[in-house]
Amino acid sequence: MTVNPEFVMMARENEEFRNVLVHADLALPDGMGILWASRILGRPLKERIAGVDIVTRFAGVAARKGIRIFLLGAAEGVAEKVAALLVAANPGLVIAGTFAGSPSPADEEDICRRIGAAHPHALFVAYGPPRQDLWIARTRERLRVPLAIGVGGTFDFIAGVVPRAPRWMQRGGLEWLYRLMQEPRRWRRMLSLPRFAAAVVGTRLSGRHA
Ligand code: UDP
Repeated sequence: MTVNPEFVMMARENEEFRNVLVHADLALPDGMGILWASRILGRPLKERIAGVDIVTRFAGVAARKGIRIFLLGAAEGVAEKVAALLVAANPGLVIAGTFAGSPSPADEEDICRRIGAAHPHALFVAYGPPRQDLWIARTRERLRVPLAIGVGGTFDFIAGVVPRAPRWMQRGGLEWLYRLMQEPRRWRRMLSLPRFAAAVVGTRLSGRHA
């Protein structure tokens, strides 16, 4: 899972999502807020690993090792664009399939059939949290894809549908501000950031993290 502060706040309120997060095989810090929290709570993480970097760098490894990738999610046509860009950047890469679909239960059967027929080694799911991660948890037994990762808005960034914050803003922990400027309708979701900060400071003061 690609964890940012929003995930943590969702997990506090949504038991199903919390279970999925706690039992994830690998949870990578995708957000400066998580790095900040790790320092405050005395177990510093080394670096942030953004969803975009996971997908683009994994594509390089996949091309060399013959790992076939399936791209699921985002708006119609976006996954296809990402597939073309990844193949152009990584000659030899095999994209097993792409599909927008939706995380709604009504679509699940059809999507599982498509992925089953493509039998990929790795699956990236871009439905945003918590739906992408719940989707993976629900279908993983049936799908038997060795590796599945929820990657949020990553396809939109790679395809250039949504521009990414400049490097200096990313490094300065200001990516949230850039995204808010790009998509002001996100403001309500972003209220989770100050709530996250308060929860981290509260945990530190209570000594519960020790
Ligand atoms: N998305 C989707 N189907 C849905 C809801 C969302 O394909 O029913 C996609 C959306 O197009 C976007 C991605 O989910 O590409 C992630 O959305 P969001 O920006 O909310 O996630 P974040 O990057 O904040 O984790």
